[in-house]
Parts: sequence; structure tokens; C-alpha cells
Amino acid sequence: MSQDVQIRPKDEFVPSHGPDSSDSSDSTDPDDEQFAQLPGESLGRDLLKNRFVSALIRSRWYPAVFQVPIAAVFGLVAYQLLVGPAKAHENAGTALMWVLWWPALPLVYVLLGRFWCAVCPFAALSDFVQKLVGVNRPVPPFLKKYGIWIIDATFLAITWADHVFGIVGSPWGSGLLLLLLTFSVIVSGAFFQRRAFCRYLCFLGGLSANYARTGMVTLRANSDICSTCTAKAACYNGTDTVAACPLSSFPRTMEDSANCNLCANCIKSCPNDAITLTVRQPTKELWFLRNPKIEESFLAMAIMGIVIIQNVTMLKLWEDVLAWVEQASGITSYPVIFTAVFAVGVSIPVALLALAAKVAAHENIESTMKNFARFGYALIPLDVAAHVAHNLFHLLAEGKSVFYTVSALFGGLPQEGSAAFVGNGRIMVLQFAILALGLAGSLYTARRIAHRRYRTPARRRSTLIPFTILITVLAALNVAMFLFPMAHRM
Ligand code: SF4
Ligand code: SF4
Repeated sequence: MSQDVQIRPKDEFVPSHGPDSSDSSDSTDPDDEQFAQLPGESLGRDLLKNRFVSALIRSRWYPAVFQVPIAAVFGLVAYQLLVGPAKAHENAGTALMWVLWWPALPLVYVLLGRFWCAVCPFAALSDFVQKLVGVNRPVPPFLKKYGIWIIDATFLAITWADHVFGIVGSPWGSGLLLLLLTFSVIVSGAFFQRRAFCRYLCFLGGLSANYARTGMVTLRANSDICSTCTAKAACYNGTDTVAACPLSSFPRTMEDSANCNLCANCIKSCPNDAITLTVRQPTKELWFLRNPKIEESFLAMAIMGIVIIQNVTMLKLWEDVLAWVEQASGITSYPVIFTAVFAVGVSIPVALLALAAKVAAHENIESTMKNFARFGYALIPLDVAAHVAHNLFHLLAEGKSVFYTVSALFGGLPQEGSAAFVGNGRIMVLQFAILALGLAGSLYTARRIAHRRYRTPARRRSTLIPFTILITVLAALNVAMFLFPMAHRM
């Protein structure tokens, strides 16, 4: 699984993709010129100056040293899900996947950006298939253009299927999801270059790319050094001994962390030591947003809707709502009722952002679409916080089930009693504290984006009012839901 075995790809070239200027082209906006000239995010101290970090990252065993144990645990999870106990609360695969891994994942994004994608077993499988039988076709343009929309749709479809077919609550359902992902990864690895699946198709990749923007570790190239470089984009193309950038990012022009998994290939292949690895405040990258994309903002809002739906359907209150809908409408089919609720639940945050964007557009000259695209990113901190807060319940209220089920696998006695580490009261306090951080992060991010984008106080103020209301309303909605008791996964 080591990556020190590659081989220059067939698509070797000096990439030109850098920051485009679509945001300010053919515009009469008086703030455009100033905005285009603003410097990007400043970087902190380079972690690669630390001998220990540098030795670890440049080692031929990085990231394999993490990939191997994670792949072993993943194998155990897959085996348990497919042939282990049929009841979720007895299945170690369900516990490891949905009580430990899924809740811990957003925390990894905040700390280390998209690092999970460097150690993900699916990514390793894609590399393996590619090496074995890959024909290395270029990624089709339509996938590059619409991949994020496919990710948006897949994410929604999986969440819908979970509720209708019970993926999380059924070991076999979760196993089937893994098999489907495995099949897609194999097909993508066999046909396309690099990690096309991770960048353009994986729903987790889409989530990772969005959340990684809040991450505290960032990788960038020193532009002064790069401007004198004659290495033919070794950081992008790889060398005879180091693989190319798996996510097709070019460090020289990279302005965000969405498509960098910290695999360190570019650090190893750059002959000029131009790459830096720095620590920054969480969410900082969002403050310097230059080229917002509507599909990424849409994903941020869809994730908000998904978290709200997940919360609603895990409340005890949900049963009462179902009974009321059945009684009022006469519809008794759960899939039909859930599909309607799901459509409304996911549409609400998207519609609210569109409304706020329309109100802002009246005053700040920019179109509703541009406002939608730009300020959707401000919701990402609240997204991450709501996601972490929701999953914190599973981690802390059901966490012992991981020990119980795994120890039972290795001959331990069946454990009875509560699976909770702490009581519901303490979990609720932590959830509210996390939501407060997310709220503060989103409000501050919106403010930074508006202050950077617009010069006059009036324009900033009129832009910020609708988005501040939107962020506060969505935070309040999350707070309201955490006030009710939640059902367990296991
Ligand atoms: S990161 Fe290194 S290899 Fe890439 S362009 Fe800059 S100096 Fe050249
Ligand atoms: S930019 Fe560098 S560290 Fe990031 S994914 Fe590409 S090769 Fe890996």
C-alpha cells in the first residue's frame, strides 16, 4: 500500500489550473478590482521545519503506516457486516462503523483537513486496481464539471435509502453499502487516472472537501520558489519514485484544502523544498474565499438539511409526527411519508439560503446566484458543528458498545448494562457548546467574507443582515432538536 512505487502518469503536463477570475470578469461592480488584488490567506509556521514531523511525512512509510492498520480494521468491519450477527447491537462492524468511525470523522476534518482520504481503504483499493489493470483514461469532462452534483445527489440518495431500507440499523444493509462503494471504486480505478472516484464521485469525498476547509492543517507551495521552478511540475506529475498527486491538485496554484489529503507525495517529489505545512485557526480558509461555487454551497446546505432530518427522525417525537401524518392524510406507507418529509427537510435550508441571497442581492449589487454561492460557505462551520453534535450523542451514549461487541469477537463475555460513557445531561451541555462554537464560526466567517468582498460599511451591513438571520435561525433549529431525547443507533 506504500505509494513510493509510482511512475509518472500518462497525462504528464504542466497544469495551468489556478484561480480563475470568473468572480470579477465583465462586471461593473466597483469593489471587483480591489477584491481581485487582495492577498490570499497568510500562512503560519512551517511544520516541516520540525525534524520529527519532517521525518515522518517524508518517510517512505507515510501514509502506509496509517493505511495498513486502518485497512485491517476495515476488513474486520466488512467481514462482520456481511457474515456477523444480524442484530446491529451485537455486530462489531456496526459499532465500529456507525458508533466510532462516522462520529469521529468530522473531528478529523477539523484537526487535519482531508487527511482521512489519504488513509481511506477505498483510496488504497483504487490505487491497487489502477496498478494492476488500470487503463488510465483521462477523467471525462462531464465528470469534472458535474461530479460535485453527482456527489450531492448520491449523498441525498444514500441518506434517503438509509431511512427507507434501514442501512445503518442493519449490518447487512451497511455491508451492501460497502460492497457498492467497492464496486464503484474498482470500476473507476480500472478506467480512470489517479483517484477519480475520490475527487468526483465519492459522497464522503464531497463531504471531506467541504469540511476540510475548516481544517487546522494546510499544505501550500511557496510561490516565490515555484516561480523559478524548472522541475516540470514534479509536485503534480510525480517522479520515477514518487506517485503523482492523487487528487490532481497543483500545489503551485492551490488556494484551498478541498482537494488535498496531505498524502505528502508533492512534499517528497518537489526538488526545491517549496511545500509548506502550516497550522491555522479552524475555518480560516473560508475567510479568504475567492472563487465560490454554487454546487459546493448547495452541498453545504444539503448537509445541513440531512443533519436536521437525521435529528428529527431520531427523536422520540418522530413517532408522534408519523402517527399524526397517517391520521391526517390517510397515507400509511412509510417510504412515501419519509420521502415527502425528506424533500421538505432538505429543501428548507437551500430555500432559506436562496431567500437570504435574494434579499442581500437587492443591496449589494451582486446577483442572487453569486450571493448564494459565496455565503453558503459561511454555513460550513455550523454544518460541521451540527454534524459533530449529533454524532457526539452516538459516540458518548453508545460508545461502550464498541468494546462490548469487539471483545465478544475475541471470546470476551457478553456485556450487559448501559453502553453510555456519560449521562444525557452532560452530552446535551457538550452539544450546545459545540453548536455555540459552530454558530460563532459561521457568523464570523460571514463577516470576514463580507468585509473582504465589499468596501463600504453600508454594503457590508446590508449583506450581512440576511445571512446573520439565516445562520441564527438554523442554529436555533438545531438547538431546539437537541432539547428532545434521541433514539439510539445500536
Ligand atoms: S512545488 Fe516544487 S515542483 Fe511544484 S512547482 Fe513549486 S517548486 Fe516546482
Ligand atoms: S497536493 Fe500534495 S499532499 Fe495534497 S493530495 Fe496532492 S500530492 Fe498529496
